[in-house]
Amino acid sequence: KKKSIFKVEESIIKARNILKGRIKESHINLIINIEEELKIYSYLEELQQVILIILNNAIDAIILNKVLNPKILINAYSKDSEIMIFIEDNALGIEPEIIDKIFEPYFTTKQKSRGTGLGLYMSKMIIEDGLNGSLDVENKKNGACFKIKIPKGEYDE
Ligand code: ADP
Ligand code: MG
Repeated sequence: KKKSIFKVEESIIKARNILKGRIKESHINLIINIEEELKIYSYLEELQQVILIILNNAIDAIILNKVLNPKILINAYSKDSEIMIFIEDNALGIEPEIIDKIFEPYFTTKQKSRGTGLGLYMSKMIIEDGLNGSLDVENKKNGACFKIKIPKGEYDE
């Protein structure tokens, strides 16, 4: 796999497009805020894959919790030499008893047929080992917020 210069927007939109059907069916209000001309020198497909996994989990959580006025907010911006991508839902968040376990392989709270428990484990590997960044989660007032931080990478325009 090769590194390239791409717009962060591209990785978010591609993941969103794959999940368009699920988002529409579950009447989710998806709000995307991306800093203008936000570019990065990194691995597009890997980043897109992680965003897809996190978005898909947020949709699962919204459906499983039968959330009224379901909402997912994606914020992307640069800070110093890093790109931040925050994905927040309003599906009640993650129980404190399990929040330390969700990145472990095979950890799932879903039925066997619905979840493998590998999504977040793989996401963390991709972001931390592959893209040299970090992936963390935090509970907000109404839901979970997944935080991707990755280096912008050095590149010439
Ligand atoms: P899977 O989706 O197959 O269960 P993941 O590794 O993707 O495996 O996620 C692990 C667990 O983390 C999920 O089973 C769920 O309990 C929890 N989780 C992930 N995302 C969210 C979210 N947005 N809201 C609440 N719980 C979540
Ligand atoms: Mg998953």
